Amino acid sequence: MATATAPAKSMPQIVALCKRRGFVFPASEIYGGINGFWDFGPLGTQLKNNLRDAWWRDMVHSPPSGPDGQPLEIVGLDSSIIQNPRVWEASGHVSGFSDPMADCRACKARFRADDLIGVELIFPDVPEPNKRNFLICGVGTPEEVLETNTKKIQKLQGANGPYERLSSHHVFSELNEEGRAEFSCPNCGEKGHLTEPREFKLMFETYVGAVRDEESKTYLRPETAQGIFLNYKNVLDTMRVKLPFGIAQIGKAFRNEVTPRNFIYRSREFEQMEMEWFCRPADAPKWFAFWQERRLTWWRSMGLGAENLRVRPHGADELSHYARGGSGTVDIEYRFPFTDPDFAELEGIAHRTDFDLKAHQTQAGIKLEYFDQEHNARYLPHVVEPAAGLTRGVLAVLCEAYTPDPARPSKVYMRFHPKLAPIQAAVFPLVAKDGMPEVAGKLYRELRGRFTCRLDIKQSIGKRYARMDEAGTPYCFTVDGQTLSDQSVTVRHRDTAAQERIGIDHVTDFLAQRIKG
Ligand code: ATP
Repeated sequence: MATATAPAKSMPQIVALCKRRGFVFPASEIYGGINGFWDFGPLGTQLKNNLRDAWWRDMVHSPPSGPDGQPLEIVGLDSSIIQNPRVWEASGHVSGFSDPMADCRACKARFRADDLIGVELIFPDVPEPNKRNFLICGVGTPEEVLETNTKKIQKLQGANGPYERLSSHHVFSELNEEGRAEFSCPNCGEKGHLTEPREFKLMFETYVGAVRDEESKTYLRPETAQGIFLNYKNVLDTMRVKLPFGIAQIGKAFRNEVTPRNFIYRSREFEQMEMEWFCRPADAPKWFAFWQERRLTWWRSMGLGAENLRVRPHGADELSHYARGGSGTVDIEYRFPFTDPDFAELEGIAHRTDFDLKAHQTQAGIKLEYFDQEHNARYLPHVVEPAAGLTRGVLAVLCEAYTPDPARPSKVYMRFHPKLAPIQAAVFPLVAKDGMPEVAGKLYRELRGRFTCRLDIKQSIGKRYARMDEAGTPYCFTVDGQTLSDQSVTVRHRDTAAQERIGIDHVTDFLAQRIKG
């Protein structure tokens, strides 16, 4: 039913659907919300759990086979969010984990310096000597900056005729003093009040115990990875693992982001799915290449389109402190509607060398070396880390699934991969009489032990299909008059809206075949 040229996906419409259908709500909404925090509603929670469980299953229960065809060994972990603060000194976060930020002296708004963009416009119809360039300033991509300044641009056009776009600059890296003085604050519109960028610490601080002083200060973890390094020795001593092996963890991370934005893309509380792959230093380049390929394939298997995914190697100037001297870092990027035609990070894969183990070994004064019996050598393993965002992954899955279709009553449906769909099957009686609700109820009770199901009895069948289209339910089973005579039900396929009849006894097998674990 989808039209040949798919209409563009609009972020405000995706956000509205997420609210309307119970995927994502603003946190503390009845108090006006709190910037950078989100709550997952019933459908969003199930979607997130499904993505999380798929990662855990494909990493821990049934990891891929390695380049030599042997199954890999990866074990799970769940470490504490709050750790001894010395952990974050060793990891480099206390001294280095910050973003440059600029404040507007007039309205006190704070911006991440990288986000401040100036777009230069020129009006060719204006004759010399009055012709001059105008600077339009704002936050986001050049297109977003132009969009948020539509009124100003229309006013300029009224006076000067059509414009041409010359170029766009990061305010701090490329605009000269004069350009910066022209910068009007995207929040209050005042010109020339921007401070020089200053480093802003991203870790949330907290205090442990009754006394609030420097001694009791610690941090909410900004990444799950360090908990893995802290327990590497415990895992070695208890699990009889041998190099190479991995430790995987899923959990919350907290970053006091300067400008949380783009819905749940950059939030202050989010979930990560990280795996640290410990290997011999000489083998690290091989594993770095291996995990890039595997992780890209995995995201595709979650239903993300190949054309919307890419792998982008970091430039030398982008490398994190822990990745210098290694084979490098790549980002798996997704083309989100708010970056289109550009892409943005979904997962980072880094060769972290022995940076973290070495740092903890020094800071804690405890030997963390591995004894390699095969080579009769003692050394610190190297680490290759695929670090994915679960929250960001959910956003990519939501954006990919969002499919406008003007021909449907709902005008849109969510094309989730059946294994991720929060509701996998819906059961409807066509009408709430003639014994149909009883048959539907029985089918629903049979299915719900194995699949996430909904029984919906009220409203017209068209409205029930429309609601399930927006929830992204791949299959709806309807019990009608014919069911009572021949024990068949209709199954409606979400993506084509086509219907067929199958025996009521075959519904479980039908679903099992299509929703593979
Ligand atoms: P970014 O450059 O977007 O700030 P990062 O490179 O700092 O991200 P990592 O430290 O590599 O991110 O974290 C691994 C993953 O965690 C990222 O690929 C992303 O999916 C997720 N992530 C990081 N920060 C956030 C955030 N503020 N909100 C949601 N997810 C995040």
